[in-house]
Amino acid sequence: MPQALPNLKDLDPPRLRERLAAGGVAPYRADQILAWLYARGVDDPREMTDLALDLRERLAAEWRTRALETAVVRRSADGTRKAVLRAADGAQIESVLIPDDDRVTLCLSTQVGCPLACSFCATGAMGFTRNLTTAEIVDQVCRMRETLGPGERITNVVFMGMGEPLLNLPAVLRAIGVLVHPRAFALAGRRITVSTAGLVPKIRPLLEGAPVNLAVSLHATTDALRDALVPLNRRFPLAALLGELRSLEAISPRRPVFFEYTLLGGVNDAPADAERLLVLLRGLPSKVNVIPVNPHPGSSFRAPAMDAIDRFLGVLARGGMTVTLRRSRGADIDAACGQLAARAEGGSRTPSPNR
Ligand code: SF4
Repeated sequence: MPQALPNLKDLDPPRLRERLAAGGVAPYRADQILAWLYARGVDDPREMTDLALDLRERLAAEWRTRALETAVVRRSADGTRKAVLRAADGAQIESVLIPDDDRVTLCLSTQVGCPLACSFCATGAMGFTRNLTTAEIVDQVCRMRETLGPGERITNVVFMGMGEPLLNLPAVLRAIGVLVHPRAFALAGRRITVSTAGLVPKIRPLLEGAPVNLAVSLHATTDALRDALVPLNRRFPLAALLGELRSLEAISPRRPVFFEYTLLGGVNDAPADAERLLVLLRGLPSKVNVIPVNPHPGSSFRAPAMDAIDRFLGVLARGGMTVTLRRSRGADIDAACGQLAARAEGGSRTPSPNR
């Protein structure tokens, strides 16, 4: 199909209804199309057999419905699956599927590369090419669903792959509209988490636009260190970030902020760092995910020692913080964000944690 055609998956449910109505098609047809595209995974409008024949032919002639093709899928011994997906312009992105007990979590990318250049991140080292379209975001779900085994289904979606989601907020919000629509992917908002490195002005619009969880990649407890690890901190320092989070009505004990804290050996893993973290987050409904960095040849960072991890977690737990240690998943398949796409391009990159 010619690339110049618009993509049907760029339309969120309200816009799909509008476009159909503008062409004289009854709005309820939108629900049928959503069910075919997303619930059933049928891309060819000619196979949407409960639509009138002339509508099927019009859709097939006027719209594209696929945005991504699968280039590579790698499977880890622990069940994690990582794919490199290719867009029509040849851009390559990654999605990761992580089975864990009764959950299957899909990690989505939102940009080709990332302009924020966090110092520990393979994606940041790739530089920035462009934002993904809504179709390219939702098609990651369609392609990754093709890797599911019998009885598996995607239960959770996290926007923690390549890119800063809040730099592509309109497309992310439209994609969330598809994820939660009952005729499309029918995911509850509480099963969707959007992660940010701290793009302060866009956090409120995200939470006002979508009933999702917020994750913040914190990684440091002083501006000096965070300036070095997450350069966005120079524009939005810790006080501005935490002040904004404290002002949000959407944040509550039932809907806390998830703070991602990548533990870098000898950099941010001292008990004093954990003590400062407790002080910073005091009074803010929070959960902390501690993620020991994945050691990787060529990285200037090293994994924290086991006793340093234990001490760090102990300080947080004694301080009353809800804290989880995120196990490294898919280390045998370069599952941290940006690693596999970097390898697929033949580059040698700094490894990233799983954000
Ligand atoms: S950690 Fe996230 S925000 Fe930072 S450079 Fe990597 S993808 Fe971008």
